[in-house]
Amino acid sequence: MSDFQKFLFEGLPVRGMVVRLTDSWQTLLSRRETPLPPEVMNLLGEMSACALLLQGNLKFDGTLILQVAGDGPVKLAVAEARTDLSYRATANVVAAVPTGANLADLLNVHGGGRCAITLDPSDRPTGVQPYQGVVPLNDAEARRFTRLEQAVEHYMKMSEQLDTKIVLAANAEGAAGMLIQRMPLEGEGNLEGRFGAERALELEDAFPRIAMKVGTLKPEELLGLPLDELLHRLFWEEPLRRFDPAEPKFRCTCSRERVGRMLVGLGREEVDSILLERDDVEIACNFCGTPYRFDAVDCTQLFQTEGGVAPPPAELH
Ligand SMILES: [Zn+2]
Repeated sequence: MSDFQKFLFEGLPVRGMVVRLTDSWQTLLSRRETPLPPEVMNLLGEMSACALLLQGNLKFDGTLILQVAGDGPVKLAVAEARTDLSYRATANVVAAVPTGANLADLLNVHGGGRCAITLDPSDRPTGVQPYQGVVPLNDAEARRFTRLEQAVEHYMKMSEQLDTKIVLAANAEGAAGMLIQRMPLEGEGNLEGRFGAERALELEDAFPRIAMKVGTLKPEELLGLPLDELLHRLFWEEPLRRFDPAEPKFRCTCSRERVGRMLVGLGREEVDSILLERDDVEIACNFCGTPYRFDAVDCTQLFQTEGGVAPPPAELH
C-alpha cells in the first residue's frame, strides 16, 4: 500500500513527512505505452514522491506541479500532486540516455536546465495564470546539481526562506521520500533573551541534528523498511509525534478536450497528413496511456475552436 505520513518533534521547531509509493507507482509505470530508461524512471519516481511531499508540506488546495526541463536527453519531466494525494507523472525523452545518468546528464548538459514549481489552485478563475517559481539546475557557483533534492532544497530556501532537507529514492518497485523542515519561530533573532542560552541552543540545534540523521538514510532503507521501523531507527532519541497516515493514489486528470489541444499543438498540416493515410488520428494521454480518437470532422472542429493556436512548447497534456 502506498503511504504518506506527517510528523513533528514535540517542543522543537522541526516538522517532517515521509512518503512511500508502491502499488500506485507500479500502476503509473504499467500505464506507459513505452517503458522508460531506468535512469528516467527513477527520476520520475523521485519527482512523484517529491511533489507529494511538497503538496503535503504546503497544504495547498489544488495541484502542485513539479517540472524539470532542460537541454539533455530528457526534454521535460513532470509530476503533479493534488490535495487528496492523488498524483501522476510523465517524461519526454528525446535522445539516448547514458547508463547511470544523473540529473545533470539527463537535463542540464549545457547548463540550460530549470526546475519549476507551479501552484494551480482548485478555484483558479479562467484566464488567470497559476503561480510559478523557477530555479536553475545549478547552484550560485554554476555547479550543476546531480540530484533532484539539491534543486528542490535550493528552491525552498529561495522561495520560503526555510531550511529543508529532502531525501528521495526510486526504482521499478517503489518510490519514496522524506522531507524535514525548520519551522520559523516568532522573533527568531533573540532566542537567547526569550528562552535562556541552553534552550536557545537546543532550538537552534534541532534542525541540523535531525537533518543529519535523515541524510544518513540509504536508498534501500527509504524504499524497503516498514515505515514504523524506519522512523524508529532514525528518531528513537527524538520526541517524535506522528499524525494519521494517508494513502497516495495514481490518478490521471486527462480529458478529450486537453488531448485535443495537444493535437492543435501539432499543427493543421501534420494532422491533415495523418488523416490522408487513415480515417482518424489516435493520440494517447502522456500520463496514463488512455487513447483518444479524432476523425476528420473532430479535427476540423478542433482547429476552428482553437483557432490553430499552439500551446506553449513545454506543456504536456
Ligand atoms: Zn491521462
